[in-house]
Amino acid sequence: MTANTAPALLDLAPLGAGHFARIEDKVAALMRTRETVVTMQGEALLPLEACIRSAVRPGSTALNVVTGPYGETFGGWLRSCGAEVITVSAPFSGAVSAGQIAEALRAHPGIDFVCLVHAEAATGNTNPVAEIGAVVREHGALLMLDAVASVGAEPLLTDEWGVDLCVIGGQKAMAGPAGVSVASVSARAWERIAANEHAPRRSYLSLLDWKERWIDGGRTALPHAPAQLEMLALEQAVDRIGTEGLDAVMARHRAAAAAVRAGVRALGGGLEPYVVRDEDAAPVATTLRATGGTDAREIVAAALAADASVPVQGAAGALAPEMIRVNHYGTAADRDVVLASLAALGTGLRAVGATVAGADEVTAAAGKAWDAAAAQ
Ligand SMILES: *Cc1c(COP(=O)(O)O)cnc(C)c1O
Repeated sequence: MTANTAPALLDLAPLGAGHFARIEDKVAALMRTRETVVTMQGEALLPLEACIRSAVRPGSTALNVVTGPYGETFGGWLRSCGAEVITVSAPFSGAVSAGQIAEALRAHPGIDFVCLVHAEAATGNTNPVAEIGAVVREHGALLMLDAVASVGAEPLLTDEWGVDLCVIGGQKAMAGPAGVSVASVSARAWERIAANEHAPRRSYLSLLDWKERWIDGGRTALPHAPAQLEMLALEQAVDRIGTEGLDAVMARHRAAAAAVRAGVRALGGGLEPYVVRDEDAAPVATTLRATGGTDAREIVAAALAADASVPVQGAAGALAPEMIRVNHYGTAADRDVVLASLAALGTGLRAVGATVAGADEVTAAAGKAWDAAAAQ
């Protein structure tokens, strides 16, 4: 037998209720909410589904705003809860406007629930939540926001924007774990959920179980064994954002998006930002459109053959022939990573026969855009 060295992730002192509650409070502060938060012990799709199933019931009319793939998923859950679903979509090349939402609310006065995604990592766009929140609040519907890809990357003002159910996960801009996620629940939302006899109970999808067994008891006794490693990692992710400064973390993400957009425009070769307007571009990922007869999949394959370390990937499904995604969240919201991604894309474009600008020109354009955006 070899000597038994204790693996670092095992045999830790138990995570007590007090510590669990303190981690929740740190996350709530990051989300800018004073409402209650529920930590769910799973990836962010768990609280997203829990919020919908808790607040929506047969007879609800829900407005589902589809600006990327998650909206499609939400539509399915809303329908399976028996809601009538009104869909407002924006092309993945832009954002939805508050005017479009106001129009839908006017046309369907019975809408009592609105589902919205903030930043879309898969399609690279971001939606104007402050303006949309004001319109939804005036109408009186509950607003649920998927802020998984925006928390830490761009301002997220849950209470100020009137978001009733806000869901975050740690795995994007927070550079944290994917295995625990948090939903904030406003007092209005709790009222609706408590009155919904279809809301899940004695279920892993139940917000009410956590309220009754954890929050209402003053958060002194955990109802289940906590996902300790994930909770500790979540705390470290929030603490690290505090050390760097939230503004600095957001500036890195903003700068990365600006640099990729400017670098791709300088590069040429038929590649262009998929999201047309800079203000609609998400700070976590930049999507690119391959034009001029090139195939996005071939460009990605050649780029990754040149440098397998860059966070460049092809799009899923029907968009695969034309869309490339450059991720720049978390530790990838970094100048060197962005420049390496642009260099690999240049190699990929040359491999499919496109004519592109020289590396110095691209690096200069990207660097200038990085500096300008970081200084904003
Ligand atoms: C990443 C992300 C999630 C989490 O889902 P995964 O499929 O695990 O990545 C949810 N919503 C949005 C908008 C995201 O970008």
